[in-house]
Amino acid sequence: MFLFYSGIFLRLFRKVFKAPPFKRIMVSGRLKSRTFTRKQVRILSGKTITRYNRRKPGKAQCADCGDYLKGMTQRFPGKMQNTAKSKKRPSRPYGGVLCSGCMRKKIVGRFRNILSLSSK
Ligand SMILES: [Zn+2]
Repeated sequence: MFLFYSGIFLRLFRKVFKAPPFKRIMVSGRLKSRTFTRKQVRILSGKTITRYNRRKPGKAQCADCGDYLKGMTQRFPGKMQNTAKSKKRPSRPYGGVLCSGCMRKKIVGRFRNILSLSSK
């Protein structure tokens, strides 16, 4: 037990289980890209490697006010093929293009336009 807590073992323990501080390394030219995110990952052998992952597509925004749309999935295009249509966008007029508030305004405005035209 004493041996386990002695300096040599502690140092070894730290060397094996504690991750070393990540160094900022110059990226080679072909990997210099904003399309990919860089992530320092410690693999089982103890080495730290850089992984390059594709960025997730951005959130869908309303065409009128620019707010983020609700009820929309944010997935890679390849995975979008396997998702249900109902999960991709809300099933209402202007679903996936306008937010609910802007859609309401647009429909009411159109209806008022029609009324004003018919009264003339
Ligand atoms: Zn909107």
